[in-house]
Amino acid sequence: MAASVSLAVGSLVWVEDPDTAWIDGEVVEIKGEDIKVLCTSGKTVAVKASNVYHIDTEAPPCGVDDMTRLSYLHEPGVLQNLRSRYDMNEIYTYTGSILIAVNPFMRLPHLYDIHMMAQYKGAAFGELSPHPFAVADAAYRQMIHEGISQSILVSGESGAGKTESTKLLMRYLAYMGGRAATEGRTVEQQVLESNPVLEAFGNAKTVRNNNSSRFGKFVEIQFDQKGRISGAAVRTYLLERSRVCQVSDPERNYHCFYMLCAAPPEEVQKYKLGNPRTFHYLNQSNCYELDGVDDSKEYIDTRRAMEIVGISNDEQDAIFRVVAAILHLGNIEFAKGKEMDSSLPKDEKSHFHLTTASELLMCDVKALEDSLCKRVIVTRDETITKWLDPESAVLSRDALAKTLYSRLFDWIVDKINNSIGQDPNSKVLIGVLDIYGFESFKTNSFEQFCINLTNEKLQQHFNQHVFKMEQEEYTKEEIDWSYIEFVDNQDILDLIEKKPGGIIALLDEACMFPRSTNETFAQKLYQTFNNHKRFSKPKLARSDFTIHHYAGDVTYQTELFLDKNKDYVVAEHQGLLNASTCAFVASLFPPSPEESSNKSKFSSIGSRFKQQLVSLLETLSSTEPHYIRCVKPNNLLKPAIFESKNVLQQLRCGGVMEAIRISCAGYPTRKPFDEFVDRFGILAPEVLDGRNDEVTACKKLMEKVRLDGYQIGKTKVFLRAGQMAELDARRTEVL
Ligand code: ADP
Ligand code: MG
Repeated sequence: MAASVSLAVGSLVWVEDPDTAWIDGEVVEIKGEDIKVLCTSGKTVAVKASNVYHIDTEAPPCGVDDMTRLSYLHEPGVLQNLRSRYDMNEIYTYTGSILIAVNPFMRLPHLYDIHMMAQYKGAAFGELSPHPFAVADAAYRQMIHEGISQSILVSGESGAGKTESTKLLMRYLAYMGGRAATEGRTVEQQVLESNPVLEAFGNAKTVRNNNSSRFGKFVEIQFDQKGRISGAAVRTYLLERSRVCQVSDPERNYHCFYMLCAAPPEEVQKYKLGNPRTFHYLNQSNCYELDGVDDSKEYIDTRRAMEIVGISNDEQDAIFRVVAAILHLGNIEFAKGKEMDSSLPKDEKSHFHLTTASELLMCDVKALEDSLCKRVIVTRDETITKWLDPESAVLSRDALAKTLYSRLFDWIVDKINNSIGQDPNSKVLIGVLDIYGFESFKTNSFEQFCINLTNEKLQQHFNQHVFKMEQEEYTKEEIDWSYIEFVDNQDILDLIEKKPGGIIALLDEACMFPRSTNETFAQKLYQTFNNHKRFSKPKLARSDFTIHHYAGDVTYQTELFLDKNKDYVVAEHQGLLNASTCAFVASLFPPSPEESSNKSKFSSIGSRFKQQLVSLLETLSSTEPHYIRCVKPNNLLKPAIFESKNVLQQLRCGGVMEAIRISCAGYPTRKPFDEFVDRFGILAPEVLDGRNDEVTACKKLMEKVRLDGYQIGKTKVFLRAGQMAELDARRTEVL
């Protein structure tokens, strides 16, 4: 896309490089389209002229704080800009109104203190250095002045800094919309304290992040007429349930388990806990402690935060009883029973944990054992009790643990919402979305499928917004714009969620049909989407499928799709816990009307999630969006390491490159009149004799250089792609 006309021997250019994404070098030979570049690495490479990009020799060495001010808006330029800023601890950069945040992996306390908040309060957007406070402030002011609800969408891969950014945004909003007098438990305090509570139960250490949120979150902060916080609501999405029973080294289970094991001795005794190494749900991994984290202190802090968000002492006690019960459940092992294919608790130890779990859950111990080891099957004519073999009993135990935990988590979220309360009179809100970015791993299952669907949806929303903003800029500057196209991903969305006939619909069908297996499900997909250009069957695969997502190809393994899509609570577990004499536990398992009919009903996680997304997108569509794209500069989670290739991939997935592409399709370079004249006046010195104002000078200058297609706006010159390079080349000739 670089105009080859402007290349000359001696031109400084970026060349693609397998290791560093882009490397700089100097053109040493030109033969038509074929050129040779001597790279700074010492290597000389032969490339096509169309594959190199100009280096902006005028760019300030410390970078620019808004990418749209770069003279060359291309990948290597964007990357170089981010890198030079990161090297100087400038972790925030704008691309127009999008904030890019590169994780510093070190504390920068001065950047977020109360003085900083005071500075950003009311400052015009773009006046101060890029910052999440500036985004929050812009959202807040727009809400107050125009009476429009706002949303701030924070995205990025795991460990990129979404949750930290979200907390900064919430802190700033609490600062702006808080009440002066501290009245103990204020709404904004409750909103802030909901974070540590949700993190205790919904975050865990993973290989990608020591404090990884295992759920998506949308926080709506409601404001009254005076712009003060008057209510809030938290919506959560897709908590990772499998982690409760399955942890791989060096990850951890949810934080709350370790906190409880590190609680004061009298509590540890009360729950019959002890060293986390003695619990199966924790000791599958060798990681128990986190650097810089004291679980016993976290326990106290979590309890205090629970208190602030309105969870009573009794409720806290019940919550931790369930947490402890889950650990005990996990330690029940099964041996073969007397009857064929039956099972029973293996030994003394298993009996102890069974009894303890039943005490903690306040349910009958025999009933608990039966619910783990037996199934009641109701047919048209009779009711049969069937034994489970030891392996099935383990699965049954794990299913119970997962159900308990996810109901517990949902209860906590509901409780937070009820106690903070919604303001029915509030007309405006600011929503903050902290949700997992696009995922593509070695193996990708149902979770990645749902996560990537979310990202497709958000990407569409983002594209439409960027596109709209671009058009608005052109309108504001009163310049013509012909229709700019962008790649719409509606076809991928149709593939996944169309009803009937999309992948989720086919999955639901498979789940309802008793004889389906993952292979029959995959076959059905292969047949149905044989010719779909976003779908393919990998060679040799028997049950995998590939979706060509906007951010890249992802191959999904269907093995667990059917199981994971079934949101099914075993009737025996439901009955057992509903009968608990602990009101709290019983309330986690309210009888549902259909339950009594004892029909095996099916409720689909995929479809419910799809529904949640529809509702999220509806909310977002009624707001003015703001975007923060978090970037993880390296996978070592260490400061000062900037891996270009890695970063570039994230910018692509986060739609930042697409946003840039959209603007490149129109007039990618825009320079205010004064800057333009400063840089290119030399091409037409006669226009600078003082008789012309800046606009006229720019017009005359452009006429003289005879380029086509540019536009003169009200405050800026708008150039087509490549024109900046052309002007620079001519300038170099003159100099
Ligand atoms: P995500 O939510 O995207 O998975 P987090 O927000 O949990 O990622 O960030 C991961 C880790 O990175 C944090 O625990 C913290 O150590 C570090 N981090 C992220 N953002 C910042 C920041 N602005 N300043 C300092 N450290 C940060
Ligand atoms: Mg997070």
